[in-house]
Amino acid sequence: KRRHLLAAGGAAALSAPLLTACASGDGGGKDKIGVSMPTQTSERWIADGDNVKAQLEEAGYDVILNFAADKVDRQINQIETMVSQGVVALVIAAKDGSTLGGVLGQAKEDDIPVIAYDRLITETEDVDYYVTFDNYNVGVLQGQYIVDALGLDDTDEAFNIELFAGSLDDNNAFFFWDGAIDTLKPYIDDGKLVVRSGQTEIEQAATESWLAENAQDRMDNILSTHYSSEKVDAVLAPFDGISRGIIASLESNGYTGEDLPVITGQDAELESVKAIIDGRQTQTVFKDTRELAKVAVSMVEDLLAGEDPEVNDTETYDNGKKVVESYLLEPVNVDASNWEELLVGSDYYTEDDFK
Ligand code: BGC
Repeated sequence: KRRHLLAAGGAAALSAPLLTACASGDGGGKDKIGVSMPTQTSERWIADGDNVKAQLEEAGYDVILNFAADKVDRQINQIETMVSQGVVALVIAAKDGSTLGGVLGQAKEDDIPVIAYDRLITETEDVDYYVTFDNYNVGVLQGQYIVDALGLDDTDEAFNIELFAGSLDDNNAFFFWDGAIDTLKPYIDDGKLVVRSGQTEIEQAATESWLAENAQDRMDNILSTHYSSEKVDAVLAPFDGISRGIIASLESNGYTGEDLPVITGQDAELESVKAIIDGRQTQTVFKDTRELAKVAVSMVEDLLAGEDPEVNDTETYDNGKKVVESYLLEPVNVDASNWEELLVGSDYYTEDDFK
């Protein structure tokens, strides 16, 4: 299962200095690593790409970094090119995790280790490790935030809620949804939370490609069809871009200030943190992408040194062909009470970002 950079026989026969020379490529140039990110429509993936690239360069590698513009074909082509350019490892955040089996088969023939970054790669044996956050717990944080913000455990009042999910080509969307719905369902069942649209299935709640405009359109429809005389008290939103689309819809339908519902989010994107400070969005989930990059880079280094990377989960992420050994980081709740300490205090953002 463990992949080696060099063909097994050759590597074993070499002495350590020779091995190092050989491992660093043909003519003493640096080894290349391919980093494939899904999109630049969200600031988090740009930051992820930058972080992984910078940390790999610091570790002595050259990096080919590509963004796939949310297009499956483009991502496959980009990875094919990386393989043909002789990368020694791949770090991939998939647009659609189920579409990479073919190209990863090619990578495997060249003994190129593959790390699934943040999003699971499914339906193939040819993914070696997965680094991500505890995705189920992201959903729990969002769901529980709504429960607490509405004070559902201390009231007999009923509140209106609408539910949004992510893009169904992303395995994470199901984990976020399950974590949130498992938390909210008891309250929906006992009538304290009412979903007036009746749209309680993930297929109905999904947001294609996680795009703000898709969420905004759906919220517009829900408001005009189900809320002519009622008000929305809470919205489960799985990602800050989606949250901002929902807020745009609510504001164009007359919600302002105190009227705005409790609205969750994810990624602590700058624009959303500002919206939290302004009281327009309520919560987000901070996932420190610097830490994610760090684990991904150390996995690459371990694999290229012929060692097994550290994992902390060996049962959750079944990709349809195998359970992919994973390292899960912890997501953190952010709201108006702690954004500064968590985000500025950790230098994720600077004070100036908020001026
Ligand atoms: C990531 C989230 C992100 C979403 C949309 C998911 O795969 O885990 O952090 O909000 O994609 O980009």
